[in-house]
Amino acid sequence: MAAAFDESHELYRQTCLRFARERIEPHVIEWEEAGTFPRELYREAAEAGILGVSFPEAYGGGGGDLLHSMIMIEALLTGGSSGLVASLGSLGIALPPVLLLGNEEQRRRFGPPVLAGEKIAALAITEPGAGSDVAGIATRAVRDGDSYVLNGSKLFITSGIRADFVTVLARTSEDKHGGTTFFVVERGMPGFSASRALKKTGWWASDTAELVFDNVRVPIENRVGDEGSGFVALMQNFQNERLALATYGHATAEIVLGDALAYAKERRAFGRPLAGFQVTRHKLAEMATLVNAAKAFNYSVAERVMAGEYLVAEVSMAKNFASEIAQSVCYKAVQILGGMGYMRETRVERLSRDARLLPIGGGTTEIMNEIIAKSLGL
Ligand SMILES: Cc1cc2nc3c(=O)[nH]c(=O)nc-3n(C[C@H](O)[C@H](O)[C@H](O)COP(=O)(O)OP(=O)(O)OC[C@H]3O[C@@H](n4cnc5c(N)ncnc54)[C@H](O)[C@@H]3O)c2cc1C
Repeated sequence: MAAAFDESHELYRQTCLRFARERIEPHVIEWEEAGTFPRELYREAAEAGILGVSFPEAYGGGGGDLLHSMIMIEALLTGGSSGLVASLGSLGIALPPVLLLGNEEQRRRFGPPVLAGEKIAALAITEPGAGSDVAGIATRAVRDGDSYVLNGSKLFITSGIRADFVTVLARTSEDKHGGTTFFVVERGMPGFSASRALKKTGWWASDTAELVFDNVRVPIENRVGDEGSGFVALMQNFQNERLALATYGHATAEIVLGDALAYAKERRAFGRPLAGFQVTRHKLAEMATLVNAAKAFNYSVAERVMAGEYLVAEVSMAKNFASEIAQSVCYKAVQILGGMGYMRETRVERLSRDARLLPIGGGTTEIMNEIIAKSLGL
């Protein structure tokens, strides 16, 4: 894996770590409690050269590869809020369908303002009646002259409250898989509203919304790709999202391992540091083993993806494994910190709550297992 890293990756890691240390960490508790963070942070992240990484420079991106995106997640998470990183990074799932399927005019209209941190983009797939069963979505787009009329609702949408535009998957025909199409729905279009901010177990600094489309007239210029092209693009998008969530998994586990290790050396009980108890040392040893295994697997999958392989089963395995080890490593980290691990002031407490999302978001553990089972011929 070392061969794929070059100096640009290390420099980028240092930039992201500095941003986390200086711009996120000092405010993270305040922002988490407030359930949001300043909009200005998007622009600051763009100006620092962080936001647009791995997007093409032609559309305002910073260039770079998949490893840069993984490094961004690892480094920004040290700031102590997965929700903030997810919200800041919602462009990572909202823009690719536009850049993949959209025409040149759409790429130039929607890409640069988001990559410059001036606009916020969200992706809306999940609905009250369809989550895992993505092809079961019921939000409908009906052609009427030079526009489409959208009706329906979307649920659990990251950055949905303050997004300037949302990349929405809607049904354009009855064909279950071949009948879905992406549209860009812009804030201010009559009939489009973010109806409520949802309260959650973790990811507090991220706004998670329910969106409603009530006869929203969307001009044909905002249809992304041909009618019926949505599902294939969505499957491609899931690959990136799942590898990103796998990275949240190993990165979260690595950070809480570090915090638990430091605490175990410092905190004393019965006249010795916690690390002096074999049971604590073994816990830390097991945590370190899981972190290293997940990280190595994630990077090996990323390296193959970068080489052009389309690895649906392996990406699903990476997401499952890293999501699951994050649960057990976080559980042990909280245990090592004792009462302090249950206090909101600690990063371990926050990241542990945040980690519970990982086996759910972007396709659940059970759905990943279905994909893996299919690859085994089952
Ligand atoms: C904080 C947060 C942020 C999110 N952000 C976004 C976003 O930005 N955009 C977006 O579109 N969505 C987003 N989601 C939605 C997320 O992708 C869905 O929650 C997820 O895909 C699961 O869908 P569901 O919640 O409807 O669960 P369901 O599909 O109802 O599943 C419920 C349970 O049944 C199981 N199950 C379902 N089908 C099967 C099966 N065939 N076999 C075995 N078990 C099965 C599931 O694994 C799960 O355990 C977000 C969710 C959360 C919580």
